[in-house]
Parts: sequence; structure tokens; C-alpha cells
Amino acid sequence: MISPSPVPVAVVGAGPYGLSVAAHLKARGVAVRVLGVPMGSWRARMPVGMFLKSTPRASSICDPGGRHGLNDFRAAERRAWVGDRYAVPLDEFVRYGDWFQQRCVPEVERAAVTLIEPAPHGFRLSLDTGESFTARTVVLANGFPPYARIPAELRPLVAAGLASHTSEHADLAKFAGQRVAVIGAGQSALESATLMHEAGSEPVLVARTGHLLFGDPPDSDRPGDRPWPVRLAKPASPLGPGWSFTAFSRAPQAFRYLPDRTRADLVRTVLGPSGAWWLRERTLGRFPQLTGHEVVSAEEVRGRARLRLRGPTDTLEADQVLVATGYRVDVERLDLLEPGLRRALARRNGGAPRLSPGFESSVPGLYFTGLAAADTFGPMMRFVCGTGFAARTISRSIATAIATAVRR
Ligand SMILES: Cc1cc2nc3c(=O)[nH]c(=O)nc-3n(C[C@H](O)[C@H](O)[C@H](O)COP(=O)(O)OP(=O)(O)OC[C@H]3O[C@@H](n4cnc5c(N)ncnc54)[C@H](O)[C@@H]3O)c2cc1C
Repeated sequence: MISPSPVPVAVVGAGPYGLSVAAHLKARGVAVRVLGVPMGSWRARMPVGMFLKSTPRASSICDPGGRHGLNDFRAAERRAWVGDRYAVPLDEFVRYGDWFQQRCVPEVERAAVTLIEPAPHGFRLSLDTGESFTARTVVLANGFPPYARIPAELRPLVAAGLASHTSEHADLAKFAGQRVAVIGAGQSALESATLMHEAGSEPVLVARTGHLLFGDPPDSDRPGDRPWPVRLAKPASPLGPGWSFTAFSRAPQAFRYLPDRTRADLVRTVLGPSGAWWLRERTLGRFPQLTGHEVVSAEEVRGRARLRLRGPTDTLEADQVLVATGYRVDVERLDLLEPGLRRALARRNGGAPRLSPGFESSVPGLYFTGLAAADTFGPMMRFVCGTGFAARTISRSIATAIATAVRR
């Protein structure tokens, strides 16, 4: 079925970034179609039993009126206000996202976009329902899964069905009774290994770093309660206390003026591999942890994975390998963009889209938000706390473009 007249804006994705930008566009009177499973990545691509690393304050999806934060949701459920020392469980965050969606963007359509191609009045979107329609503007908010990174040395095991990326699993209990090599030292690696250990697997963590790092517990639930010298030395920010985090969260527009290399390094290293403060006790010393080890090659041997390591232990055998080596943005991996459209996208730093101050790519009318915008606007775009800046900026940019087109 082909829908007749073009819609002004299609938002592809109904995670925190898609929902937030849709709510802001609606508040500006812009008609929008929103496609995707609400909180789809949080339901299907994060492990059951997980807790958020971000504080409740930094885990609110931004709505235009500021009345749909995580604590507003808790109040609606008649539950107590929570501060920085509360670790938000995954299932609570998903319920919060659903609540936000039902109240702010009830018109979300649970359809997947299978193809986006250029059309005379913008873009033609094909859906898995068989429908296709034209949108003048597209905001791509399809999240982190397309960018899952698996190092080359582990790919032979993926082909053999012996290795997978963390983003492919919601249920880690299925590994119970198996020896699983977990590669990485970030929150995802540490928490996945811990959850598997607690569910009866035998995880073995393999990490290049010499020491596993964990954050410090917050001094108080409200940052304003800290003594003023502490506040001055380490001002509070959604990314954590400290002047650099404050700069990244207060001045994302300035980030884009940094040299290419500096931006790429900052996006990769700011809030780099470390576990949340509440994970330390559950993780350290609880299962084998091969720190200071690097995987140099991997092969299948009699139906199991054999890893060659550089480090004091040189070989590790496991039933499965769980790859927790994060994400790297490369628009070449966006199969849903028609190849010509992909080729037309100007890129930088190995594949991130080059974006305007309003989040528009080099293809007029095609916007990117969330992780794909981190190379331009900084590390805040990797987290829920970036939804406000992104949604305000994109909705203003699109509303201005529409008003300009109408005046012409
Ligand atoms: C294990 C893990 C833990 C994390 N913990 C935190 C944390 O504690 N705090 C924090 O701030 N951030 C955390 N993050 C980062 C977090 O993923 C982002 O902050 C947030 O999810 C980004 O939102 P998003 O809307 O851009 O993308 P996503 O949440 O990935 O949402 C993408 C949306 O797009 C939809 N979609 C995808 N493809 C299509 C398609 N073709 N058609 C239609 N819809 C489509 C999906 O269904 C989904 O609705 C974590 C990430 C991981 C992997």
C-alpha cells in the first residue's frame, strides 16, 4: 500500500532519543509519524537483571514541558522520590519509557522501516507491514545496535556460532552451565559476566587493562547537599562530577569545533571502560578475571572456542565467547539506507555522519540523533541525558526549515 501525500517528518526509532524528539516536534505543531518498538533496544538488547549506570537524574527522557522525568513516573506509581544513590533497575526504566511514550507520543507505530530511499519530495520509507510512504524529513533515531563492534580476530568464531556481541542477548541465563569467555572491561562486560556468574555460568573475563575500574558511590542523593568546596572542585553534571563532564554536558555545540582526532578520542575515552560503583562487590574476585590479557587470535577446536592470548595465560578454551567491546559508528552499516543515499553522506572519523549544528546530515532533510551524533556533539549523545539538547535542537531546526519553505 502506498500512502498518498508526504508527511512532514518521520522519526525512525522509538527509544529515548526518538520519543524525545517526536514529543518536541509535536509541541512545535509539526506533524510526525514515529516508527519502531517503544524502548525496543532496552527490551531486547540489554540483559535481564541489569541496572542502569546513570543516576535517576541523568536517566530522564526529556519532554517539552519537563513533567515526564523518571521521578514523575515514580510519583505517578505512588513510589518514593529517588536520588543519585539509587540504581535504576532495567525493568523500571522500560516501564518508565512506556509511560513516557503513552503520555507524550501515543501515536508510535510498531513497524520497522526496511528501506529509506530518495524521493521527489523527500524520502520514501518502506515498512515491514508492506506500506510505503513519503516524508519530507527523516530523523534517524535507530540507536546503537547497528554499530555493534566485533574485533576482527573474533569474527571466525561468530561465523562458527561460538561468539556473539552483548547486544544480541537479553537472557544471559541461557548460558547457565557453560564456560563463557567475556571480552571487555566496560560496564557491559563486567555486568554481563557478573549476571552470568550469578545465574550459574562459568564466566572468564578477558580484559586488556591491568586493573578493573569501578566508579565511586555518590556522596549524597542531591548534588546540592555536598559541601561547597567539593561542589566547586567537582561540579555536578549528568555525566558525573567534574569540570570536563560539566563542559561536555553544558556546551555540546562547542564540541564540534574540536579537531577530528580529539573528538574521536574523547568520544571513545570519556566515561571509558569502568563498572558502576554498585557492581564492585558483586564482581571483583567472584570469578576468573584475566586482566592484562589481549586476544590475538581465535579458532574453533572440536566445537569449542579456543582463544590465543597475549599475557601471562596464553590459551583459553570456552563453550561460548561474549564480545563486550562496545560500538563504533559507521553509516556504511545502515542497511536501511538505500546505497546511493549512504554514499551521499559526508562522514568523518571512520564513518560517523558529518552533521550541521541542527543535526542535519549532508543529505538535506536527513537528520541523525543519539549515538550517531556523538562524534559531532560529544559523549553526552551516548546517554539518555543527551535527549534534551538533541530534541530541542532538532525540533527547532526542522520547524525553522518548514516555516522558511512555507514563506517561499
Ligand atoms: C548494555 C547497555 C547499558 C546502557 N546503560 C545506559 C545507562 O545506564 N544510562 C544511559 O543513559 N545510557 C545507557 N546506555 C546507552 C543507551 O543505549 C542510550 O542512552 C539510549 O538507548 C539511546 O537511545 P536511542 O533512542 O538513541 O536508541 P535505542 O534505545 O537503541 O532505541 C532505538 C530505537 O529504534 C528502533 N529501531 C531500530 N531500527 C529500526 C527500524 N529499522 N525501524 C524502526 N525502528 C527501528 C528500536 O526498536 C528502538 O525503538 C546503555 C547501553 C547499553 C548497550
